[in-house]
Amino acid sequence: MSEALLELRDLHVDADGAHILRGVSLEVHEGEVHALMGPNGAGKSTLANVIMGHPGYRVTAGDIFLRGENIATWSADDRARHGIFLAFQYPEAISGVSVIQFLRQAIAARKGLEELSVLEVRLDLAEWMDRLGMDAAFAERHLNEGFSGGERKRNEILQMALLEPVVALLDETDSGLDIDALRVVARGVRTVREEHPAMGVLLVTHYVKLLEEIAPDRVHILIDGRIVESGDATLAERIENDGYDAWRSVST
Ligand code: ADP
Ligand code: MG
Repeated sequence: MSEALLELRDLHVDADGAHILRGVSLEVHEGEVHALMGPNGAGKSTLANVIMGHPGYRVTAGDIFLRGENIATWSADDRARHGIFLAFQYPEAISGVSVIQFLRQAIAARKGLEELSVLEVRLDLAEWMDRLGMDAAFAERHLNEGFSGGERKRNEILQMALLEPVVALLDETDSGLDIDALRVVARGVRTVREEHPAMGVLLVTHYVKLLEEIAPDRVHILIDGRIVESGDATLAERIENDGYDAWRSVST
C-alpha cells in the first residue's frame, strides 16, 4: 500500500487539563474519504483541530504524520502551507475582508508566494465558482458576514478547491446544517475530488444522508476520545438505525 497522506498514531490530547483524545490511530491514503462520526463531546472537533495544529490543545503522546513526516510539533501555519486544510465548524466573520481578498492571501501562503496577482486569483476563482454553481458576485462579499448556512459551506468548499489541500478536514456542525448546506457539501466534495483525485478527506459528520452522497471509503466511530469501530459505509447506516448505544460500553 502507498504511504499514508495522513497518519495518526496513538494520539493522546489534553485541553485545559482534560484528557480528551485517548489513543486515536488513523490512516488516510491517497484519494480516500474517511467519515468520523460520534456523539456530541466525543472529541471529533478536537481531533480536527489537533491535526490542524490549534494551539489550544496539547498532544501528550502519539504522533501525526503528513506523507511520512512527523508534523506534531509544527505550527498551524506550517501545516497549512504543507497542505492541511480545515474548514472551520464555526467560521468567524472578518469584517472588511472580501472573499477574494481572503483567498488571495490564503493561496499565496499555501504556495509560499509573497503575493499573487488579483487577476490570477480572479480567473481561478471565476472558474471554480462556475463549477460549484456560485454567483460571481459572491467573491466581492465580506467574508462570512451575513452568510447563510449554505453560503458558509460554499465558501468552505471554494477554499478547499482553490487551496488544493493534501488532506482536507471538514468539521460539520452538530446541528443546523439545512438541506441546502448538505447538498453544497456533498456536491462540492465530489466536484473538488474530480479535479484533485489524490486529495484525502476526513469528514466529521452526523448526517448519514451526506455520507450516502459522498460514499466514504471508511467510517470511524469516536466515543469518549477513542475510535471504537471502523468499517465501510454500512457502518453509518447501522448508526442511523441503532444509535451509538451499542458502542458506548466498549469505550469505558
Ligand atoms: P465533538 O466535536 O465530538 O462534539 P469536542 O472535540 O468539541 O467534541 O469536545 C470533546 C470534549 O472536550 C468536550 O467535553 C469538550 O467540552 C472538551 N473540550 C473541547 N475543547 C476544549 C478546550 N479547548 N478546553 C477544554 N475542554 C475542551
Ligand atoms: Mg464538534
